[in-house]
Amino acid sequence: MEIVCTPEENKIFEIVSKAATELNVQCYLIGGFVRDKLLGRPTKDADIVCTGDGIALAQLAAAKLSPKMTVSYFKNFGTAHFRYHDFDVEFVGARKESYRADSRKPDVEPGTIEDDQLRRDFTINALAISLNPGDYGKLTDPFNGLKDLDNKLIRTPLGPDVTFSDDPLRMMRAIRFATQLNFDIVPETFRSITTNAERIKIISQERITDELNKIMAAPKPSIGLDMLYRTGLLHHFFPQMVALAGAEFIDGKGHKDNFYHTLQVIDNAAARSNDLWLRWAALLHDIGKPATKRFEEGHGWTFHGHEVVGERMTPKIFKQLKLPQNEKMKYVAKLVALHLRPISLSKEDITDSAMRRLLFDAGDDLEDLMILCESDITSKNKQKVKRYLENFEMVKTRLVAVEESDKIRNWQPPISGDEIMQLFGLEPSRQVGILKTTIREAILDGIIPNTYDAAYQLLLTKAQELNLQPAKHE
Ligand code: ATP
Repeated sequence: MEIVCTPEENKIFEIVSKAATELNVQCYLIGGFVRDKLLGRPTKDADIVCTGDGIALAQLAAAKLSPKMTVSYFKNFGTAHFRYHDFDVEFVGARKESYRADSRKPDVEPGTIEDDQLRRDFTINALAISLNPGDYGKLTDPFNGLKDLDNKLIRTPLGPDVTFSDDPLRMMRAIRFATQLNFDIVPETFRSITTNAERIKIISQERITDELNKIMAAPKPSIGLDMLYRTGLLHHFFPQMVALAGAEFIDGKGHKDNFYHTLQVIDNAAARSNDLWLRWAALLHDIGKPATKRFEEGHGWTFHGHEVVGERMTPKIFKQLKLPQNEKMKYVAKLVALHLRPISLSKEDITDSAMRRLLFDAGDDLEDLMILCESDITSKNKQKVKRYLENFEMVKTRLVAVEESDKIRNWQPPISGDEIMQLFGLEPSRQVGILKTTIREAILDGIIPNTYDAAYQLLLTKAQELNLQPAKHE
């Protein structure tokens, strides 16, 4: 395997090498940069470890690269960082770490490059490349990381129980790297995650979710989500997802395993879109199923209203996982709520007003909703899949036609709440809501045309029913 760096990367590394020689320290590229170069993956940052003071090395290298460079550093951790032409470089002094059973904070002391490699999480992350004049470019591989890269394996350099007990976040990282790189975790390491899963509780939710989102952003998130489930890690921070697993049988009738169905839907969505939040909608689309599951005699299993329950569960799950409480959460809840609607439009004799309603409710998120619905088709029967997809194409064509004629997406009814209040001298109240809804519903149902005059006439009639008189204006 050969490493090919960009001219920019080469320039930075040569200057770091010169600075290290001046300071009389040894330095190496280490970790993700080396791993990703060997795999031929793109790189946008590099970690450099040196014997001695990492901050001093960063400052001297930065000064040599450009007088305008700023270096940020954490004195307590002995780490420093600068960015040169969009490329991030992290520096750290080589260290030796030892953990005590009663604390997650390691005792840290300066160490050799070998000590530093020993504290790394996986063999493939412990590979180092020398930047020292004597052996510039030479690979140091104390734990056969190259072989593991070749065989696509995640393995801890030390006994896995030690590695995971010292820092339980590494269990999430193992699964995250396996997902991003499409690697296996060696059985001993995998078993150890299962044994130590409970220790994940001492890690902050933010750090767990950070890894979870990296798994969700990978090309095939199901790899990691399945591992999180099989190791038992998922049970500790996301029990609602675990509740989807399994299939119950009554009178010989079973339902599908909603956990594995969900994983398939996420992968399908991931194949169609890189949007992390659309993938989250796929993850949560059936989350309301366990709570709504019933067995109805003569009918079988039903999950009535699971989309409404799922919509309500979404904010709670976002809070629990420390995901953002903002418009992203609302978007996910909305897609969960609407995920059955396009399917229903493909079934019956559908009127234009049902189409208008979906256009109105989905607004700008209609395309994403259609991606979610297509992803939700996980039947193994190819004929069935083909038929469903064709039905969706028909729904899409009709939606486009209705939108072209009626312009319902992002539409506002022709008379606003403010205008209604002025016309009838009302304060914000239930009556204003009734009048607004009457106009909106009548237009969406096609009872009146989408014009100001028609809306105004209807408003007067409805107001009369409510015993409201237009206010007199001077
Ligand atoms: P990515 O950039 O995709 O996250 P990376 O390997 O560069 O991948 P970082 O989190 O930036 O990941 O860490 C850089 C290196 O530091 C890793 O390759 C690994 O050698 C080491 N490392 C990071 N976190 C840990 C940890 N929790 N335990 C042990 N070593 C770690």
